[in-house]
Amino acid sequence: MARYTESVCRQCRREGTKLFLKGNRCYTEKCSLDKRHTIPGQHGQGRMRRPSEYGMQLREKQKVRRTYGVLESQFKKYYDMAVNMRGVTGDNMLQLLERRLDNVVYRLGFGDSRPMARQLVNHGHITVDGKKVDIPSYIVKPGQVISLRDNARQFAGIKQLREEGSAKPIPKWLELDAPNLTGRVAVLPQREDIDLSVQEHLIVEFYSR
Ligand code: SF4
Repeated sequence: MARYTESVCRQCRREGTKLFLKGNRCYTEKCSLDKRHTIPGQHGQGRMRRPSEYGMQLREKQKVRRTYGVLESQFKKYYDMAVNMRGVTGDNMLQLLERRLDNVVYRLGFGDSRPMARQLVNHGHITVDGKKVDIPSYIVKPGQVISLRDNARQFAGIKQLREEGSAKPIPKWLELDAPNLTGRVAVLPQREDIDLSVQEHLIVEFYSR
C-alpha cells in the first residue's frame, strides 16, 4: 500500500498550520512548526506571494487530505461519494472522512494521533461489533461499537486512558466507555461537531473546475 515517507512535520510546515500528526508532541514546544515557519523546499525561503484562487483551493484540499492521512485517489473518491449523497457536498465529504475507523479510534483517544490510531487498526487491535477490522478506511455507522482487543489493553497510553479517562474531549457523536475501552457511534457527525478550521467549499470548487 502506498504511503507517505516524508517527515510528517514537513507536511504541517507546507500547509502553514498544525495538522497534529505526532500526538502529544504537537502540544509541546518541541513542535517544529512553532520553531520554523518557513515553507519547506528551495522556494520556501523567498517572499510569500498572494496565492491564486486555484492555489487557495489546492492548499485547502491538501490540508484536509494530510490531516486525515489519505492519498489523492482515495480523497477524490470521498468527494465523488459526497456529491452523490443528499445535503451539502463539503459537509458530506468531511462527515465521510470523520467516520473512517482510524479517525474514530483517534477521536475516542485510543491513539494519540491519527497515524498512531491507524497503526492500531492495521495491526488488528480493533474490533467493530465484536469482529476484528483491520481496514483504516472502514466507514462506521451509528450504533456500531468499537473496542480494543485484549492484546492492546496493556499498552502504556491505553492503561492511562482506562484508569483516568480521556485527556481530550470526546466529540458528542461518539460515546466512550473508558474503563471497558469501548466506544459507540451515537449519531452521524454534523459539521459543527468536526473541529477542523477549513473552508470545505474551496475543496468542492477545486474538484468542480
Ligand atoms: Fe505538526 Fe505535530 Fe510536527 Fe507540530 S509536532 S509540526 S503539529 S506534526
